[in-house]
Amino acid sequence: MTAFIEAASPHVMPTYGRVPIALERGQGCRVWDVNGKEYLDALGGIAVNTLGHNHPKLVPALQEQVAKLIHTSNYYHVPGQETLAKLLTERSGMTNVFFCNTGLEANEAAIKIARKYGVDKGIAKPEIVVYDHAFHGRSIATMSATANPKVRNGFGDLLAGFTRVPPNDYEALIDATEGNPNIVAIMMEPIQGEGGLHPMRADYLKKVRELCDANGWLLMMDEVQAGMGRTGKWFAHQWAGITPDVMTLAKGLGSGVPVGAVVAHKAAAEVLKAGNHGSTFGGNPLSMRAGVETIRIMEEDGLLAHTTEVGEYLKAKLQAELGSLEGFVEVRGQGLMIGVELTKPCGELIGQAAEAGLLLSVTADTVIRLVPPLILSKSEADEIVARLKPLVQAILAA
Ligand SMILES: *Cc1c(COP(=O)(O)O)cnc(C)c1O
Repeated sequence: MTAFIEAASPHVMPTYGRVPIALERGQGCRVWDVNGKEYLDALGGIAVNTLGHNHPKLVPALQEQVAKLIHTSNYYHVPGQETLAKLLTERSGMTNVFFCNTGLEANEAAIKIARKYGVDKGIAKPEIVVYDHAFHGRSIATMSATANPKVRNGFGDLLAGFTRVPPNDYEALIDATEGNPNIVAIMMEPIQGEGGLHPMRADYLKKVRELCDANGWLLMMDEVQAGMGRTGKWFAHQWAGITPDVMTLAKGLGSGVPVGAVVAHKAAAEVLKAGNHGSTFGGNPLSMRAGVETIRIMEEDGLLAHTTEVGEYLKAKLQAELGSLEGFVEVRGQGLMIGVELTKPCGELIGQAAEAGLLLSVTADTVIRLVPPLILSKSEADEIVARLKPLVQAILAA
């Protein structure tokens, strides 16, 4: 490897177990490292690069915006916020948006909304229902909502006010909440991403919606990973035909430019008042332009239907090529948010795949996660499977 890799970032905190490659440029679903080696990108910056790399419509729009205005301040109106908020509310059937920069910030704001919603109703110690295997971020509040002990442990006391239940188990949800006057909200990922690509069932979501309505609880969907067309609908909960009270977005929203959003509805939209919340960078002109252009281009290029079609194709191909291997459990997910579960831990696949020219990730030890750009073609889907298959065979044979 190059001198750059050998120097191995002595001044950057070692918070990541990194694959020893450094990427330099990209085009579509391909990226190249500093040595000129090509990779097919089935990770998309972890479900971030919605439009792939160097998109011919996105790049000129961002260049124009950079020259015009990058950042001002929320002291003043930012017209792009109203434009993007309108696009998000029209597509979600919700009403109001708060803009921030990352997923955890969006979830932090959602947690603040739920807690203040409760406190405003006279509930001094509000509790939010969260799930086994959940991932909501790495701030103190969002890691307290997260399930994984590797994320939670080692930082002293966690934030109180979370009640944890297993996914897709309505009886367990009733048992955990019945008679508890402090419950104010239920917060979940429609498809758990970091927790191993576990979808919430549509019938469960419908029942949870009814339960929230009956009790005056907020239903809060963390769509940070599954939202923005990743599953073939704008938001993954729409497959169940429900509308949440609060929805959080980030990853794919700006196609790589950091932008997060909390979208709210009805009573939840009226909780935060002037002075209750804010963000210096949140909703700046550059990030708003990235969100607006992402949605515009996705619609112009028919990417929702495309995602459904290529996603089904890729899932079927994975099933056909890997399904009969000893040690294959299942392929699951929706659109281009796909997990392949094996019986064996397969974390070493991340490095092996990179060596074989394929970027992907592994979550929950045994689940290969594919979240490529939504512009993925069928021939690129074929290529993902062709590069992946021998690696999976080798791991399962070992
Ligand atoms: C990635 C992710 C987050 C955290 O987003 P950051 O931008 O890394 O803070 C929160 N929730 C879900 C579901 C995620 O996938």
